[in-house]
Amino acid sequence: MTTETLTKLEQHDLFLSRHIGPDSAQQQEMLNFVGAESLEDLTEQIVPESIRMNRDLAVGDHVSEAEGMAYIRAIADKNKVNKSYIGMGYYGTLVPTVIQRNVLENPGWYTAYTPYQPEIAQGRLEAILNFQQLSMDLTGLDLASSSLLDEATAAAEAMALAKRVSKAKKANIFFVADDVFPQTLDVIKTRAECFGFDIIVGPAADAANHDIFGALFQYTNRFGQITDFTELFTALHEKKAVVAVAADIMSLVMLKSPGSMGADVVLGNSQRFGVPMGFGGPHAAFFVTRDAYKRSLPGRIIGVSQDTRGNRALRMAMQTREQHIRREKANSNICTAQVLLANMASFYAVFHGPQGLKTIAERIHRLTDILATGLTAKGVTLVNNTWFDTISIKGLDTAAIKTRSEAQGVNLRIDADAGSDKVLGVSLAETTTREDVAQLFDIILGEGHGLDVATLDSNIVANGSTSVPAALIRTDAILTHPTFNRYHSETEMMRYIKRLENKDLALNHSMISLGSCTMKLNAATEMMPITWPEFANMHPFCPQDQAQGYAQLVSELSDWLVDITGYDTVSLQPNSGAQGEYAGLLAIKQYHESRGDAHRNICLIPQSAHGTNPASAQLAGMKIVVTACDKDGNIDMEDLKTKAAEVADNLSCIMVTYPSTHGVYEETIGEICEVIHQHGGQVYLDGANMNAQVGLTSPGSIGADVSHLNLHKTFAIPHGGGGPGMGPIGVKKHLAPFLSGHTVVKHGLESDNNGAVSAAPYGSAGILPITWMYIKLLGKQGLRQSTQMALLNANYVMKKLSEHYPVLYTGRNDRVAHECIIDLRPLKEASGVTEMDIAKRLNDYGFHAPTMSFPVAGTLMIEPTESESKVELDRFIEAMISIRGEAARVESGEWPVDNNPLSNAPHTLADIMDPEFDSRPYSRETAVFPTAAVKLNKFWPTVNRIDDVFGDRNLFCACIPIADYE
Ligand SMILES: *Cc1c(COP(=O)(O)O)cnc(C)c1O
Repeated sequence: MTTETLTKLEQHDLFLSRHIGPDSAQQQEMLNFVGAESLEDLTEQIVPESIRMNRDLAVGDHVSEAEGMAYIRAIADKNKVNKSYIGMGYYGTLVPTVIQRNVLENPGWYTAYTPYQPEIAQGRLEAILNFQQLSMDLTGLDLASSSLLDEATAAAEAMALAKRVSKAKKANIFFVADDVFPQTLDVIKTRAECFGFDIIVGPAADAANHDIFGALFQYTNRFGQITDFTELFTALHEKKAVVAVAADIMSLVMLKSPGSMGADVVLGNSQRFGVPMGFGGPHAAFFVTRDAYKRSLPGRIIGVSQDTRGNRALRMAMQTREQHIRREKANSNICTAQVLLANMASFYAVFHGPQGLKTIAERIHRLTDILATGLTAKGVTLVNNTWFDTISIKGLDTAAIKTRSEAQGVNLRIDADAGSDKVLGVSLAETTTREDVAQLFDIILGEGHGLDVATLDSNIVANGSTSVPAALIRTDAILTHPTFNRYHSETEMMRYIKRLENKDLALNHSMISLGSCTMKLNAATEMMPITWPEFANMHPFCPQDQAQGYAQLVSELSDWLVDITGYDTVSLQPNSGAQGEYAGLLAIKQYHESRGDAHRNICLIPQSAHGTNPASAQLAGMKIVVTACDKDGNIDMEDLKTKAAEVADNLSCIMVTYPSTHGVYEETIGEICEVIHQHGGQVYLDGANMNAQVGLTSPGSIGADVSHLNLHKTFAIPHGGGGPGMGPIGVKKHLAPFLSGHTVVKHGLESDNNGAVSAAPYGSAGILPITWMYIKLLGKQGLRQSTQMALLNANYVMKKLSEHYPVLYTGRNDRVAHECIIDLRPLKEASGVTEMDIAKRLNDYGFHAPTMSFPVAGTLMIEPTESESKVELDRFIEAMISIRGEAARVESGEWPVDNNPLSNAPHTLADIMDPEFDSRPYSRETAVFPTAAVKLNKFWPTVNRIDDVFGDRNLFCACIPIADYE
């Protein structure tokens, strides 16, 4: 029997030891190897004293997983899940459980990264391609994006695209129909102000009376009305205006497509295709345009190319053009998008197929017809005389109805206004039943109305329905591709999902050491709450007293992030890091304006910055001045001082990443902040590297004014194969009045009436429980120790590899921060082996490549994170050393530079089955089982190296034609 105290025995349950990879004995061994006595000693060696945090975080003690679950359960219970008929872009949906369990709740899908290494990402690439195909079929246009952040930001992107491609070069006005959702208009206005566009809001029919470069309409409009825009669009095209339509995805199954009416861009939310409302997100927006505008498309696009065997293979098309190359000339600042949710929506369409979707859409429409005919029979007046799923009622006593509806656990849209009349909106959804419609009659008319759903239904069947004008009923076939027509049984669906999953390397196979991306553990306990109905099924615009759980979650999480960042206030609205940058720059811009300094519009950005920095600055309407880095990768202080002084009168801000993108804590960061402040500028500190700061230092204490946090990097939200994410920003007090507001939901804050950057007040609120759990479980001890372990793991890998590869930059005491860059240029020079060869060869060893050629071309940036065990780190190190040995054989001339295991990587089963393999100068064993460890856990890439140039020259972004597919 043990004599340990109970406290000691309880330690076993603490999450900390699950989140951190190496156990204490291994930590000691690693510390000995790198030459530090303890984690504290290592921290002191690495983090400059001037910035060190000398206090405990105030987030509370760490707790066990069971305790954490009990806490979050109590919060969830404070949310009241009413039946929602609010609509406005968010609808009830039935998430097929086969998709919930096998995609949303499956680490094989949610822990993957953006498919930068397409050879080991063919599964999710196919699912996204399905999303693009579905988007094109439903909208009637031919080039689809792989997802944008939400409907409102997609509408703002459509405006920006319109300006880029419109031939009405002199026009500066964008027209927005006055019947679009208010949150959409709000986000457009914010963006237009940055670009200096004028916005005219008016009745749709007036659009052609103005000299405009583009216009946005909504189909069906916010009152539910369906309009034929064909003539209007023709008139607008004559004036060279670009026409965008925000459309409802479910209605498009039944209705004539906006593309066939002449729209140039069609966008919208795909949420109601099997993605929970989640109090506002995350959901994928679709965005489809004409092929002719492909160079202007915002965000990412998946295209079909071929591999070295000539087989079809998928990849991100034109991927490098968007940010890392184009930077301030990029079309948009989209980096993290909404891939997991796009995949869910595409699987929903695959599972239901065209016929199933049609049935769902027609059922929603029939129930709406029944509701509308019943109400009108009772003398109720509707605002709209056509509808798909939404009716708007005027002239009723909305107060009495509201009392009745809330008493019955039902939310209607009460506050929408059509002119002077108060209007009551009701939007039905896939979740609506005939009993629900009967209940709606009771609520709207009061009991004793005598209406009967079945009788009304028979009348509609007998007499036909005219609620959709005949000319607006869809006649063309959708989703004819076999993928949408063969996986309708659950067994088939489950296997299709699994087949795709098997093609992808995610964190459930091996470490993904992508520098700057922080691919840490996304723990099961953290993920668990997000599918609970109390979080998942909440409408973002429900009455606030029903969302008390979310209110507590938001308030506690904000307090913790304030403490961790050293700022005064946090805004949880931005949906990604890049959106956070945009929101933060807007705050800076408005701060200057409030002080009469509207001319301050120059943003200094060091050469080494992430591509989203210049793209966001451009979006915020700023002018970019690039500052140099010295040979050690640090910001060149002389150049910075000179440039800051030169532009002082017009200096708005600097955007700087800390620790630097080169993976070191620059000693000069305090001085940088001072220089900028002296010249009247603000400091935007890109918080993507927050994993090297939490508990050790903070952007606020360093002297910065505003930062975004990537909750999907530092704070355990999974990357989902390219999204979702959350990019909240922290600000100092003086910037707080300039944070994003929201037109629909007010919180009694000074910033309430400011413009919005996202459709929903708290962005992708539905995934905030993950970060809440992460912080709650780790507590102040665990957060700090996680950061220290991220440093130890990085320095361990760096020191082990430094005997084989030159390490590009180190900081104090020859240490790196939480990531390290190895320089492959000398090796390339000597041997002809490229960074690409090494990246692809790592696939053969079962690893995802580290970040390639960012921030320096010809390098790999390795970020192991605290979650990787010593065993896994050693396996990775062994692979890297073995690869160096292979490169040596190329260098020595033993293997030809164009025919060796590196240049031919990755290897597939097709390679080793190929009789011609015998002519290669290396064995099959060397190709696919280069170390003993690989044999135990082999990952098989399903395609050979993909030809990027071919893919971009022959841009093809739809599902592969049927004949080729079979
Ligand atoms: C990831 C990253 C960003 C962009 O964040 P997203 O969430 O992908 O938009 C910005 N800066 C740096 C340094 C990053 O690593």
